[in-house]
Amino acid sequence: MGNGQGKRVVVIGAGIVGASLAYHLADKGANVTLVEAEGIASGVTGSSFAWINTSHPEPDPIAQLRGSAIKEYRRLETQLPGLKIRWTGALSYSVMASGELQISGSQAWANLVSRSQILDLEPNLKNPPQSAVYVAEEGALDAVAATHALIAGAQAHGAKILTQTRVLGFVTQSAKVTGVETTKGIIDADIVVLAAGTGITKLADMLEVSLPIEASPAIFIRYKSQPNLVHTLISSPEMEVRQSSDGALLAAEDYLDDAMENQPAAIALRTAKTIQNELYGVVSIDPEWACVGLRPMPADGIPVIGYLPKVGGVYVCAMHPGVTLAAVVGRLASEEIIDDKASSALCPCRPDRFFQA
Ligand SMILES: Cc1cc2nc3c(=O)[nH]c(=O)nc-3n(C[C@H](O)[C@H](O)[C@H](O)COP(=O)(O)OP(=O)(O)OC[C@H]3O[C@@H](n4cnc5c(N)ncnc54)[C@H](O)[C@@H]3O)c2cc1C
Repeated sequence: MGNGQGKRVVVIGAGIVGASLAYHLADKGANVTLVEAEGIASGVTGSSFAWINTSHPEPDPIAQLRGSAIKEYRRLETQLPGLKIRWTGALSYSVMASGELQISGSQAWANLVSRSQILDLEPNLKNPPQSAVYVAEEGALDAVAATHALIAGAQAHGAKILTQTRVLGFVTQSAKVTGVETTKGIIDADIVVLAAGTGITKLADMLEVSLPIEASPAIFIRYKSQPNLVHTLISSPEMEVRQSSDGALLAAEDYLDDAMENQPAAIALRTAKTIQNELYGVVSIDPEWACVGLRPMPADGIPVIGYLPKVGGVYVCAMHPGVTLAAVVGRLASEEIIDDKASSALCPCRPDRFFQA
């Protein structure tokens, strides 16, 4: 327990980012209320492929954040009994027309594996490349279950969770927000945290702050299949797949457009064929669920984390990849909000970069 006793913090949004914020703030002794318009993890978190992916081509302005993501999830595992992460490692490859592996970043070079090592890891691959990048430390989680685990942790530290409660506006006094107006009444606050995913732009607009965050679509597919087809997480130009602890095969695909042939159900069928072309032994692969999720994507691709300019008392947390970063951002943001301890890792993410002349 930290020194946040008595500080009233309202967190808006119960996706994985808001849940992590609520957990870390409540752990520091803040008086936390988490307000969610619908249900827990009903936003894009509910359709996430949920790879804790720390690899990125260089230069990476948030390398420091990404570099701490695994360590912070390892810490959370020791604190939250309900948090289950599959540390399977991740195998990535993109082969150029010349047949050479496309590699960028020193981390990728350090993690190269040969064709025979690839086949040891993934014996069912029909077309293994000559080499690939394998990051043994990476893993993936069930983003809905992880969000529930974080919320249970927040509640254990006294946080109040209000679902089916939409934030409609803000109460302000002398250019400082002092509360939120919800469908169930006004909640007073010393600090309000915007963790509402793609809903953040609308909330910021209410405060006359325009944040360039797009809703970026991607497709999530869940198949009923047989176990032990995929052992790690495979990311290649053909497919991005992994297997969950209950044996379901999970895939992420690019969103193309809203034409009939590119609806999630049609993409799920096409992707199933691709998976059968890429893996031996696929006896059954039946789409159970396919949907479009809208990722909160800042215009420059860098998370937007920190106090809003122009108005007091509002801290924003908008990011992709939100699952990867939820644990580390939850801790660092709670330290900024409760302990006034500014984080250098968050410096590239400040919202005021969009408002400089
Ligand atoms: C197909 C796909 C694959 C992905 N794969 C990965 C991956 O491998 N790794 C990774 O790190 N990320 C991945 N992502 C992205 C990741 O899922 C998101 O970055 C993350 O879930 C964002 O979480 P969030 O909590 O910010 O948003 P959300 O989950 O959208 O939560 C925001 C919540 O705020 C609520 N809300 C909105 N407005 C209001 C309001 N006015 N009042 C009250 N509540 C409000 C919403 O109802 C919602 O529940 C993927 C996404 C998709 C779609």
